[in-house]
Amino acid sequence: MSYDVIVLGGGPAGMSAALNVLSRGRSALVVSNPLQENPLWQAEKVDNHLGMPAQSGAEMLTNLRRHAEEAGVVFREGRVVSAMALEDTWYVSIGAEMETASALVLASGVLRGRKFPGEAEFLGRGVSYCATCDGMLYRGKNVVVLGYTDSAREEAEFLSSIGCSVTYFEKPKTCIIEGDRQVERVTVDGETVACDCAFLLRPAMAPTDLFPGLTVEGNFVKVDRKMATNLPGLFAAGDCTGGPLQVSKAIGEGLIAGQSAAAYCAKK
Ligand SMILES: Cc1cc2nc3c(=O)[nH]c(=O)nc-3n(C[C@H](O)[C@H](O)[C@H](O)COP(=O)(O)OP(=O)(O)OC[C@H]3O[C@@H](n4cnc5c(N)ncnc54)[C@H](O)[C@@H]3O)c2cc1C
Repeated sequence: MSYDVIVLGGGPAGMSAALNVLSRGRSALVVSNPLQENPLWQAEKVDNHLGMPAQSGAEMLTNLRRHAEEAGVVFREGRVVSAMALEDTWYVSIGAEMETASALVLASGVLRGRKFPGEAEFLGRGVSYCATCDGMLYRGKNVVVLGYTDSAREEAEFLSSIGCSVTYFEKPKTCIIEGDRQVERVTVDGETVACDCAFLLRPAMAPTDLFPGLTVEGNFVKVDRKMATNLPGLFAAGDCTGGPLQVSKAIGEGLIAGQSAAAYCAKK
């Protein structure tokens, strides 16, 4: 199905963006991991968002989600692994499936932690962020899965089921990826394993991995006052655009990005 706007990330910024797309009479799909995996879920008490005093992060996210769902926002659990624009349409891969939209809002939060040594160098040559997308390339081969999401074990089981020999690591802290032209081995928390591919299954991906050509400033997406990025039809909101990394700023930027994305659709 095609939507007017697809929102990547279902935190405060993404939910606010989607709600405001709907309030402008356009359809919106939010793609995100389960609410419980959102970093704010861990907050014991959030006391600086006006009108919602002393809520836990879990309560706040649940309330935001209920509001958005009741307004008609469609949510889909999954991880966006790639997105590209062809002519007037954005094609968004969610695992092995595809959705299309006229405009996108990137609301993916901040990527915590750095890339592992070798990760960027071997991306597409034995480093993958998506078991469903790339698993078939490694049938009958040795693969390593570094799982940081609730569904990572399932993805590892999928790889086993299609004939990969899988070594699984649950939330390891360190990883060094090495090889010549392709990945040949990884050293995970000090243990070296020979392999053809390392699947790094994190809840979030760096914006520049999702959108080659996206302009960033340091670790953050560069936007104008309409929350537009340098890529036509791509808007961004929330922590991914920079500080203050706070709920109120994320919700406010989500509103602007949602309205701007809806206006972009109206002009097409
Ligand atoms: C422990 C803790 C306590 C905090 N306390 C406060 C507080 O008291 N007050 C306050 O104002 N702020 C607080 N914050 C900060 C607040 O959580 C963030 O500012 C806010 O959640 C940012 O919202 P966001 O929507 O931009 O990003 P996020 O809430 O991070 O949401 C982005 C979501 O998108 C998902 N995502 C990323 N990439 C993809 C992809 N490729 N496909 C699908 N989904 C993807 C992420 O996994 C995440 O679930 C706290 C944060 C933490 C971690």
